[in-house]
Amino acid sequence: MIRPPRRIVVIGQPFDVTVVPRDVAMYNGADPHCLGMTDVHEAFIQLRAIGAGGQSPMSQLDTMLHESLHAVFYASGTFGAVFDKDHTKEEPAVGLMAPAILDLLRKNPVLVRYLTQKLP
Ligand SMILES: [Zn+2]
Repeated sequence: MIRPPRRIVVIGQPFDVTVVPRDVAMYNGADPHCLGMTDVHEAFIQLRAIGAGGQSPMSQLDTMLHESLHAVFYASGTFGAVFDKDHTKEEPAVGLMAPAILDLLRKNPVLVRYLTQKLP
């Protein structure tokens, strides 16, 4: 399996991406059920590792997109304009959209190539 990118850029803002074992995530204060986290102020994303005590490969793909959407909502102003900077409003939207968008991308590789093509 291809490892996650070390960095993504969201509307010009770089976010470092790291993969951490479950123990490290919990040591850093994560909820035991948390599979990833995004710190929009420190500009980093953490993903829980694949494997025992971690998550499945498909779950990590979903988590990577989930955390990326948090970054997109923050960087685009959606978090403030639509969710009133309320994580309890944003989280369900991210949780519903991430698997739907992941399914869209995975089932439509031609769409992905079309959207990401280089333009003259
Ligand atoms: Zn979330």
